Amino acid sequence: MADAGTFLVIKEEVAALAPRFPELKLLVGSEAAVISRDGRLDLPREIIDRLDLLIAGLHPYYIPESPGDALYYTLPNLAARFSGSLREKMRCTNTKALIETIHSYPVDFISHPDLMAPVDLDELARACAGTETALEVNTGHNYNKEGIVRAAARHGAGLVVNSDAHYPEMVGRLDAGAELLDRLGFPAEQVINALF
Ligand SMILES: [Zn+2]
Repeated sequence: MADAGTFLVIKEEVAALAPRFPELKLLVGSEAAVISRDGRLDLPREIIDRLDLLIAGLHPYYIPESPGDALYYTLPNLAARFSGSLREKMRCTNTKALIETIHSYPVDFISHPDLMAPVDLDELARACAGTETALEVNTGHNYNKEGIVRAAARHGAGLVVNSDAHYPEMVGRLDAGAELLDRLGFPAEQVINALF
């Protein structure tokens, strides 16, 4: 669970810095984890309401919402890499959870779909097109980005292309993402961070 107070401090710091960088649009956001089968996020609503950007994603290591979620969601996702049948079962569970999330929260985009836990990209992209939620193509991880671009194109969903920078020198390294979109002919007007 993120510390609510930290987000408020960051908001204040960013507001104080903004006048020094008039050429930049500074946004405060968070990547929240889906912590239950019904798509709950590990951030309180009052914090989500204060964010400029909400990202939701599936991550293997977090505290589950309930013992049932530990048993039927967290642990099977950790074990899914060892069993094809479990992986397919969790693909269904995870896709449903993410679709619940995007219907319950104002999610701007879903981080690295199908990287840390299996999801059905077509089903997810179809739902994302309906809620105007984008899918992330980040250049910092190796995963099925081509599958994401193709699913988004098929269903009319938007994409976010970013660097997932964990170090300052990685910020803005988008070339690999741009090349992929060019190669697959993905329309630039569906890339939401190209619209600012
Ligand atoms: Zn993530």
